[in-house]
Amino acid sequence: MSKDDQVEEYRLQLLKLKQSIINEGAYNNTDDLKISSEDLPDEADIASNVIHQQVSFTIRNRLMEKLKFIEEALYRVDQGSYGICEECDEPIASKRLRTQPFTTLCITHAEELEREQKQKFRKLI
Ligand SMILES: [Zn+2]
Repeated sequence: MSKDDQVEEYRLQLLKLKQSIINEGAYNNTDDLKISSEDLPDEADIASNVIHQQVSFTIRNRLMEKLKFIEEALYRVDQGSYGICEECDEPIASKRLRTQPFTTLCITHAEELEREQKQKFRKLI
């Protein structure tokens, strides 16, 4: 398989992912983020509703973030810079691109970033 064919395959995979995120309604379905006070008779319900609200908010945030990565990856396909690590300019392993076609980092730098983020998170809590 030529390099172009491979990139085209990733591009199709990215488009499919994008479509499935949009179908899940990450974009415009904000109904469950609204709480109406009449619908909440007691405190337990309020609590569970707040938890539910936070969960869907987190999921939606994650989907939006993923969507952003996908858009950026599609842009890189157009620019001919797809599959190159942003940190070291080395090609990203195809095994990694197959499972995460929207990644911008090689495994070395992805792990480095993950370690940094974990440290930041620990400082926050
Ligand atoms: Zn790298």
